[in-house]
Amino acid sequence: MNAPLSAKDPLSPDTLKDRVKTISRQLRQVQMRRHQAVHHDMPSFARADIYFEPGPGGDYPIVALRSLPCSYFQRGNCAPCAYSARPRPPQDKNQDPYPGLLTQVDDLLARFDDLFSRRADGRLPGYRLRQRKHDRVYMLQLAGESSFFSDREIPPEYRREILERFLHFGKRQGVDWHLMLETRPEDLIKAAQSGELDRLQPLLEPLNVVVNMGFEHENDFLRQVIFAKDLDKNDFLQALSDAQAYGLDPGVFLFAGGFILTPQEALQQVAQGLAFLEAKGVFVNLMLPNLQAFTLPDLLYSVGHYNLPEPQWLMGVLNLLLDYAPHRPDAITPGHWFMGGLVAEPMPVGSIIDHPRRKCSMPHAIKLLKIVRDLMLGGGWKSCDQQYAQLLNGFNDTENDDFMPFHGRLEDGAFCQRNSWQKEMPLQAWPQRAHQALTIAEKQLKIYLKTRH
Ligand code: SF4
Repeated sequence: MNAPLSAKDPLSPDTLKDRVKTISRQLRQVQMRRHQAVHHDMPSFARADIYFEPGPGGDYPIVALRSLPCSYFQRGNCAPCAYSARPRPPQDKNQDPYPGLLTQVDDLLARFDDLFSRRADGRLPGYRLRQRKHDRVYMLQLAGESSFFSDREIPPEYRREILERFLHFGKRQGVDWHLMLETRPEDLIKAAQSGELDRLQPLLEPLNVVVNMGFEHENDFLRQVIFAKDLDKNDFLQALSDAQAYGLDPGVFLFAGGFILTPQEALQQVAQGLAFLEAKGVFVNLMLPNLQAFTLPDLLYSVGHYNLPEPQWLMGVLNLLLDYAPHRPDAITPGHWFMGGLVAEPMPVGSIIDHPRRKCSMPHAIKLLKIVRDLMLGGGWKSCDQQYAQLLNGFNDTENDDFMPFHGRLEDGAFCQRNSWQKEMPLQAWPQRAHQALTIAEKQLKIYLKTRH
C-alpha cells in the first residue's frame, strides 16, 4: 500500500476508509429504519434465520442465530456485506437478548427432519471426521449475527450450552455432526487466550467443529480500505495459528472483486490471495461479488460506475481454484474450496449469473453455474480436470469471446465496454479510483436512497 504522508490527504487510506464506512453506515441506517417501519410488530426472536447451500448428498443449512446486530455492520465496515441487514424486533433495553438463543437452537433441533434428514442423505462421502459413532452425519454452518465467538452476540456460557445441546441431541437421535462455526478472527484469538477453547475441546472434537473466518483480501489496501474490514493481517495470522493448534481446520473467506478493480485485477488478486492461503494450509471459501441492496457496490452499480464481471470470468476463477492444493493435515472436507455469492441471504438484487447488465446469454450463464457446482461438489480438485475440460470445451464452442467489460469506469459519460484481456488501458492508481468512485457515491447517495426499495 502506498502510504501517503498526511491523514488529511484525500487519497490517504484512512481518509478513503472513513468515507467508505460513512457511506455504508448511512445506507444501512436507512435500510434498518425501513425494516423497522415494516416489521414494527415483530416479536422477539424465537427462530434463527436459516437458508440452504448445496452440499454433498443434499442441501445443508446455514444458521444465523439472532441476538444483537453485528457491531462492524453498524459501524459501516465490510462494504459489500448484507449478512446483518435483517429485520429485527424493536429494541427493548430491558430485555435480555440471550435466552432466545437457546430457544432458537431448540427450535432448530425440533425441526431436524425438515432441516436435515429430508434434505441430505447423511453420508458425507470422503469426509475425514474426527469422531464418527453413527451411520448418519449432518453438517451445518452456524454463526451468531456475524461471529459465533463474539461475546456480545453469544456469551461464552451460551456458546457452551449450544454446543452441548447439539451433542446431546446427536447421541439421542443416533447422528453425528459436522459443525462449521463462523467467527471473526479477533474473537477466536480471545477464546484461545481466555482458555475457552481448552474448556470447549471435549465438545469441539466430537462435533467435528471447524471454523470459518473472513480475510477477504491479502492486499492491505483492498482489505482495509475498499472492503473496510478493520482486520490487521497479524491478527488474522494469529487466529489461523490458534485454529490450527486446536485442530479446527480453518476455512477462510476470500473476496473475488472490489468496486475499483477490473476483472483482470480481481483475478490477479484472487491468485495472490490463494497463493498466500495455500502456504498457510487452509480451506478457501471464495466469495463472488453480488449486488446487495443498500450497499456501496450496489449504489455504484446503479449509477453505472461499477459492474459485475461477466459469467465467463468464473472460468478464470475456477482455473485458479483447481490448482489450489494446500497441505491440511486436519482436513475434514475432501476438497479444498467452496465458491459462494451466487446464492445468498439476504437475497441479492443481482449476481454474476443474472444481473441486468450481463451480456452473456442466460442459457450459457446457467451452464456455467452447473460447471461451478459440479466441480465444487465433486471435490474441486485436479481429478475433475477431464470433466472440467469437456464442459469448458462445450461452453467455448458456443460462445463468442466478446465478453469482458471492465468494472465500471465512466469514460466521457459512457460505460466502458472494452475487452480487458485484449487491450491495455491507462488506469489510475487504486486510491485515485477509490476517490473518484466515492465522490460519485456521495453525490448520488440521496437519490439512491429515494429510489432503492
Ligand atoms: S462481514 Fe461479518 S463482521 Fe463484517 S459486517 Fe458482515 S457480518 Fe459483520
